[in-house]
Amino acid sequence: MDFLGLELNSSIKNGLSEAMDSGRFPHAAVIEGGSHSDRLKLARLLAASSVCNGKGEKPCLVCSSCLKSFAAAAGKKKPVLKALEDNLRHPDIAEVEKEKDRVQFGVRVVRPVIENAYIVPNEADLKVYIFPDAGVMTAQAQNAMLKILEEPPGYIRFFLLCESRNSLLTTVLSRVACFNLGAVQPETSSRSKKPELARQAAAKLARAITAPRDYDLLIETAVFEKDNQLLELSLAELELIIRDALVVKSGGELLSSSPDAAKVLAKALPVPRLLNLAEEVRKLDDAVKRSCNNTLLISRLCSRLRA
Ligand SMILES: [Zn+2]
Repeated sequence: MDFLGLELNSSIKNGLSEAMDSGRFPHAAVIEGGSHSDRLKLARLLAASSVCNGKGEKPCLVCSSCLKSFAAAAGKKKPVLKALEDNLRHPDIAEVEKEKDRVQFGVRVVRPVIENAYIVPNEADLKVYIFPDAGVMTAQAQNAMLKILEEPPGYIRFFLLCESRNSLLTTVLSRVACFNLGAVQPETSSRSKKPELARQAAAKLARAITAPRDYDLLIETAVFEKDNQLLELSLAELELIIRDALVVKSGGELLSSSPDAAKVLAKALPVPRLLNLAEEVRKLDDAVKRSCNNTLLISRLCSRLRA
């Protein structure tokens, strides 16, 4: 495999080359670590190599697929590396972006991608989907992908990009190969710490809902005062915890990253109250997307969740 001057450590280069050259590249790979831009460039290079129909080292840069992938930059090494900064223009390579006004991306984005993935490639032997922000994929969205990750059509390659594999469900990780680009670049690290902060905040909210004192909920909501994005992420996670609490009562697979908090809720509250809570959280979630007045939202959250 030709890395076109992309700077990577030799062990990851060897691992990727071996997988690509032997034709045994995994159908789904997580690329973690490094910077957002490094992950994306590598995924695009691997995508171009996947659809390349040249005989020798890939990407060959001269076959009809490579000409499409690299459009204006074909044939020359440096402009090609530059071309990796932009979307590749091959009909069998797609980058799946989250909806612009959302901090996470959910099942609404993922479902059509999965449906599309069952349709054979347009012209290449393989069809590639890159998820540049897999780290902010909701648990429901990840869950929706389990079946296709478990039994993918033979022509599929998924690249899931994230700062850390810890942002993905273990059920997803058990079905993919992971490539680590090394230490996360500091300039992007606050971006991905947020989902983890939201998971912690949601677990605390869940416990505060059934705490003996009203005051506990007020304390846990203080972190949202100046952070609308954290509030939105935390509500999404809280919705999952409440859903899990209902699952605890009826049986099934838990999806949230705080099963203990879900069990506490399940023990403390009857089903009708949990359903009512889920509805309230969903309404608050809608309100967060429409308003930036966090003080108002937080007081609404405190009064509705403790009812
Ligand atoms: Zn080629």
